Amino acid sequence: MTDYPQLCMIIDGERITTPGHRETFTVVNPATGEPLGELPLADAADLDRALETAQKGFKIWRNSTPQERAAVLSGAARLMVERADDLARIATMEQGKTFAEAKIELMMNVGLFNFYAGEAQRIYGRTLVRPAGFRSTVTYEPVGPVAAFSPWNFPLGNPGRKLGAPIAAGCSVVMKSAEETPASAIGVLQCLYDAGLPKEVAQAVFGVPDQVSRHLLGSPIIRKLSFTGSTVIGKHLAKLAAEDMKRTTMELGGHGPVLVFDDVDVDQVLDTVVPQKYRNAGQVCVAPTRYIVQDGIYDRFVAGFTERAKTIVVGNGLDAGTQMGPMANPRRPDAMERLIGDAVTRGAKLHTGGERIGNRGFFYAPSVISDVPLDAEIMNEEPFGPVAILNRFGSEESMVTEANRLPYGLAAYMWTRDDRRQRRLQREIETGMLGINTPMIGGADAPFGGVKWSGHGHEDGAEGVHACLVLKAVHES
Ligand code: NAD
Repeated sequence: MTDYPQLCMIIDGERITTPGHRETFTVVNPATGEPLGELPLADAADLDRALETAQKGFKIWRNSTPQERAAVLSGAARLMVERADDLARIATMEQGKTFAEAKIELMMNVGLFNFYAGEAQRIYGRTLVRPAGFRSTVTYEPVGPVAAFSPWNFPLGNPGRKLGAPIAAGCSVVMKSAEETPASAIGVLQCLYDAGLPKEVAQAVFGVPDQVSRHLLGSPIIRKLSFTGSTVIGKHLAKLAAEDMKRTTMELGGHGPVLVFDDVDVDQVLDTVVPQKYRNAGQVCVAPTRYIVQDGIYDRFVAGFTERAKTIVVGNGLDAGTQMGPMANPRRPDAMERLIGDAVTRGAKLHTGGERIGNRGFFYAPSVISDVPLDAEIMNEEPFGPVAILNRFGSEESMVTEANRLPYGLAAYMWTRDDRRQRRLQREIETGMLGINTPMIGGADAPFGGVKWSGHGHEDGAEGVHACLVLKAVHES
């Protein structure tokens, strides 16, 4: 069994484990509330050193061959497979999700690194048609050192995305992943080093988030910001990046609408959508959130959802048989209490859950609420937790209006057997990703990103690598 590793930052290849004069952050196991370790936090000198190193790393890596980049990425993918049990266990210990989910998350990284290994070798430019004696070419170059900020909800997958694309493109990267889940991020980075990545190319710092982001984004060395997290922080960071016209990729919040029409097999749909709702205790940016259910099946849908939610086994993610772990930090059950309490006060019906479980850790019961007024906070703020919000609608038009009501547009889902409706609505729903009769909306080759307040730019797919490139048009005579 893996012990939880000693926590560290990695700057210029040095593992900084002892805090010395630095401040620290206590990493806690969300299943027990007990401390796992002390994480040293970067001070200004650490961040300056990381920036200088990133500049050196960029000079090294922009001159690497596509084959060298591919070898590092596919080598790291192989090491992640070898270390899967250990890495997944660490992720469960510090984030709470079930061990099985942590392993799936890691395998998604494996798929992504292998895909990016291929994409690193497919960065093509083009030559334009010109008269004799003239030549015009379009080439793609790595954008430069990237500052990447990733959250705690996918402690292995988010760092994988933040590291994989810049490395495929020939950039260096300074990553600040969430202080709550540092060992998972370091585990992924270590696979890259062990596969041959020069130490200057990727580094991991932790710190007080606002201080780190202001310091890194205030430096002209950083040429791109990549952020995953809430819309409110995303807007703040985008403003900082704009001061220096840095490129940005922003993966922000969502409030996923799920349109369920009355032509579906209700039980079949519920068997898929209920486990999807409670995956990672609902702490997923593409989580299904507002179920917009047509009148004819509404009562059966609410009853069936509630019945299934009540059977979900909640416990420590390391215990066999657990289907949903704790929430990742104490802020989340607090938010659940506030949002569900507000909805019920405004007249929503609570069918199950709506309460914490036990007095250790950050557990919250799988919850179902229905008939929730549109002005309830939970209908407007991303709940990011294990609560399904079910509401009754009549016409297709009113369902689409509700789906598009919010300023978010990350993921949306639609369940209907009607082919013509499927085609009609895929144009109407304002979203970056749409699942039609499926909860599966990702894949290494599929661009992942949102519209409106859910952000801009993409990770994954060929677009993920292109987001780390800049174009140069060269004209010669
Ligand atoms: P938060 O917005 O404070 O933090 C989200 C992430 O951003 C964390 O990893 C945090 O360390 C980082 N962060 C915060 N301030 C930062 C700054 N100034 N510079 C750089 N990084 C910064 O929120 P939280 O309390 O951790 O979670 C609350 C909400 O955030 C959730 O309800 C959800 O809406 C959103 N969230 C979204 C995602 C996602 O995948 N899009 C992931 C985690 C949280």
